[in-house]
Amino acid sequence: MLYVGGKWVEDGELAVHPEDRGYNFGDGIYEVVRIYKGRLYMWDAHIARLLRSAREIKLELPWSEKDLTEIARQLMEKNNISENDDATLYLQVSRGAAPRVHDIPAGIEPVLMGFVRPKARPLADLKKGLTAQLIEDIRWLRCDIKTLNLLGAVLVKQYAKDAGAQESILHRNGTVTECSASNLFAVKDGALYTHQADHLILHGITRQVVIELAKQNGIAVHEEAFDIDFLKQADEVFLTSTTAEVMPIISIDGQPVGGGSVGPVVQKLQALFEQHISADVLV
Ligand code: PMP
Repeated sequence: MLYVGGKWVEDGELAVHPEDRGYNFGDGIYEVVRIYKGRLYMWDAHIARLLRSAREIKLELPWSEKDLTEIARQLMEKNNISENDDATLYLQVSRGAAPRVHDIPAGIEPVLMGFVRPKARPLADLKKGLTAQLIEDIRWLRCDIKTLNLLGAVLVKQYAKDAGAQESILHRNGTVTECSASNLFAVKDGALYTHQADHLILHGITRQVVIELAKQNGIAVHEEAFDIDFLKQADEVFLTSTTAEVMPIISIDGQPVGGGSVGPVVQKLQALFEQHISADVLV
């Protein structure tokens, strides 16, 4: 069962208005939330980011935090998500349906849509790591907004796949930003480096968790942009996201990172993350 604009619908049932602006323009916002063992992980942070994205695109949400939590709960219940299940919750808000013009029509009503899908943790990849390819960051200049408009992300990921890699690492004129759907970290001499949380990256929730876990455990963190040369000389490289967690990158453009296997700092952060997701942050 999916939730679409106040109704419960079956998978595959038609529910989107042809002139919904999410559908026509990508005019809307979304969140992907992790469900571990039937419970929401970092829910408050996802809601806070959704509210921020809404403000940034001048979208007034008619739902309170409590309403959204209730819908998330019902989605899990109606889809029989139990304490044995790992899953993801997808929530999106489109600006709504109206005759097609670019500016924002007065009185338009946002449409909330949500679904839950079973999703196992990527345990094999977490051990082995992924290969990556450097790709020019062709996205717009407000990557801090989690918008439905993902064509840039679609293309850069496909360019990486076409080049034979599993992930894209994006750069703007040689400055490394993030990956197509995750944040990027380099490890040099035991310290972490990651692009500052400005308009050029999504302010990832997993990124923030990892930064805090690192600091609490004596690992220095530098939130500052670095270039391709620095990345290629890093001891270890990893990406973070809701679904990929703390994912090692073991080669870039066909060259091994560090020793070409998963390094000690990444392993340490993976262990800390593992503790975090089984702790009391689940709701
Ligand atoms: N950057 C981009 C471009 C993303 O789409 C995502 C989310 N998939 C992230 C970073 C990671 O954010 P989070 O840790 O909140 O999932």
